[in-house]
Amino acid sequence: MRNWIMSIVVASAALALPAFAQEAAPEERPRWSIAIHGGAGTIRREDMSEEREAEYRAALQAALDAGSKVLAEGGSAEDAVIAAIVIMEDDARFNAGRGAVLTWDGVAELDAAIMTGDQREAGAVTGVRTIRNPILLAREVKDNSPHVFLSGSGAESFAADRGMEFVDPSYFITEPRVRALEGVKARELSVLQAGDNKFGTVGAVALDSAGNMAAGTSTGGLTGKRWGRIGDAPVVGAGTYADNRSCAVSATGTGEYFIRVAVAHEICTRLRIEGAAYREREREAVGATGAEFYVSNIFRVQRAIVDEVMAEMAALGGTGGVIVALPDGATFFSFDTPGMYRGRANSFGLNEVALYADEGN
Ligand code: ASP
Repeated sequence: MRNWIMSIVVASAALALPAFAQEAAPEERPRWSIAIHGGAGTIRREDMSEEREAEYRAALQAALDAGSKVLAEGGSAEDAVIAAIVIMEDDARFNAGRGAVLTWDGVAELDAAIMTGDQREAGAVTGVRTIRNPILLAREVKDNSPHVFLSGSGAESFAADRGMEFVDPSYFITEPRVRALEGVKARELSVLQAGDNKFGTVGAVALDSAGNMAAGTSTGGLTGKRWGRIGDAPVVGAGTYADNRSCAVSATGTGEYFIRVAVAHEICTRLRIEGAAYREREREAVGATGAEFYVSNIFRVQRAIVDEVMAEMAALGGTGGVIVALPDGATFFSFDTPGMYRGRANSFGLNEVALYADEGN
């Protein structure tokens, strides 16, 4: 497993280089960029029909296009992230909103968070059962409450005060998720062994043309979760984080491990501190004439930092992936699973979606 993880890390770093060369030359940075994910996990060609694969690509493209449109029209990173996530929440293929995985008791308990990188404002909700789009409620918490994180019935009464759209809990429930829960129960698996190891959580990160960043994540958590279990997605710093000084991150995977490593915050902090130290060293070493060398190497350094945090999480026993956006417009993915539903776009015309680890982004 570990060797395998390393090969993915190395492969993805190599494949991502041309995109960075395009994206990061200091005088030619993209005005905006966005990356999305629809979960990581055991996503393999041999298990996919052509039709199913095409459906996933189209679903990801629709979410990516919605976010890109906001950014291309000069909208904010936050609005772009929300636009992409709402589409995936409404799409039953993903484990967020309609089509979310079910708890041990057979209901959907939804978690979501949004964060903006300017003032590091955040809003999050956990365990909501009747809000159609939990990411919209997270934004309400951020913008219209004195708090950051609301749970369960309290979050729902706040939603009622804010006039949000409610649905019957049955709206979220789909046949494949009912069968997945039955499978987990029949085998008496623990939550972390549950399902077939596909984390369909959705998320987005973006940089807008004003230089602001945002990250958002939305999920039903893990199949068969019990006792009000909360994953990493709504925990600011674990599954979601944005800071204009360093990066925006959204995660998917075994939430318990992402919480223990505070993955999203750890990535941003290391990028901020180690990235600055690297820049300083390079500036002294190569001076102005070394710009090209500097650009290609800062990318390697940034990528290594992200992969290192993910490897630390994996070393504890976790698995999954992250999407990362940087203030210079670069975006990348790091994951240790056979695939991750993902996509990215920027103002230079980059526009791609991918499913499997061996695809070029
Ligand atoms: N990270 C999510 C959680 O642990 C699950 C997922 O990524 O699908 O709740």
